[in-house]
Amino acid sequence: MPRIKDVRTTIYEWIGPVAPMPPHFCTTASDLVADVTGSISGFRFLGWLIVEIELDDGTIGIGNAALSPHATKTTIDTYLKPLLIGADPLDSEYLWQSMYRRTLPFGRKGIAMTAISAVDLAIWDAKGKILNQPVFKLIGGRTKSKIPVYASRLYSQPLDTLYTEAKAYVDQGFKSVKLRFGWGPKDGLEGMRKNVDLVRVTREAVGENIDIMADAYMGWNVEYAKRMLKMLTPFDMRWVEEPVISDDLHGYAELRALNLVNISGGEHEYTLAGFRDVLVIPHAGQMHNYHITMSSYAAPISEYFPKVPVEVGNELFWYIFDGEPVAENGFVDLDDSKPGFGLTLKTPDEHFRLTR
Ligand SMILES: [Mg+2]
Repeated sequence: MPRIKDVRTTIYEWIGPVAPMPPHFCTTASDLVADVTGSISGFRFLGWLIVEIELDDGTIGIGNAALSPHATKTTIDTYLKPLLIGADPLDSEYLWQSMYRRTLPFGRKGIAMTAISAVDLAIWDAKGKILNQPVFKLIGGRTKSKIPVYASRLYSQPLDTLYTEAKAYVDQGFKSVKLRFGWGPKDGLEGMRKNVDLVRVTREAVGENIDIMADAYMGWNVEYAKRMLKMLTPFDMRWVEEPVISDDLHGYAELRALNLVNISGGEHEYTLAGFRDVLVIPHAGQMHNYHITMSSYAAPISEYFPKVPVEVGNELFWYIFDGEPVAENGFVDLDDSKPGFGLTLKTPDEHFRLTR
């Protein structure tokens, strides 16, 4: 069996044009400590890290990580790469445990886990290519004929354009959509009413038979979330996402106990230990997440970021990879005959600056 010969990390930094975002397009965890509202205006992640694991038979496994590419690259180059050279990629559990335990004192979550995740994806892609099978066939196989996906964008914006965007997703066949709350505790009752308007207009646009979710991206506190959930009960939402920061487990328990609107969280939780025994809907589209949804009964649906001009960064994978499935009539499907994750790197154009 081929062995790992090289581990290469490359940052793809988008330096092309960027679409402007409205000032309150989504709340964030920084809002509660920033002394001005709209701290989201500086929130963008336009660099992605690509990991290529080359085997001595020429096979290349590809993994990736967003959000913190520079620190993740350093972690892989410094701590993980030495554990991988010469190893058998089929020993993926041993390699994962080696990386996890090597970084445990300073790792466990955050950057170290992001780095392990990017390498692990590349290892699984290589495994699929060696065994000539798609990754989902190696981790449980096909559990659904195709994957239902929800349209995920609908950033907070003027109500007329919000209405148009939401309606367009229904016309494209999506059965569920997710919007973003634009206002948090600093914006008081007036902001609460604006948040309610976003949900109300989305409900008006999609009608009664489409699921609506909304994301606060950790931008609220418990007291504010309690009041918001009460105001949101008339709209029959499927869930409200990350109302408080991910470490506030007592806050999540308190909000859930209200039983007003389903609460989702965990986008910033990590490892099997963090997710044991819960229903999981993987964050974002991106091919590796679809392989999880396809192969698991615990993952009923996937998030889908439509391809749009570059704005926040959520859409950047469309510009870096070929092979990402396009939703048709509210579903994506995976190819049973494509080994690995089925992604290839595009040749980067002049809009990317590469750091190796
Ligand atoms: Mg989210």
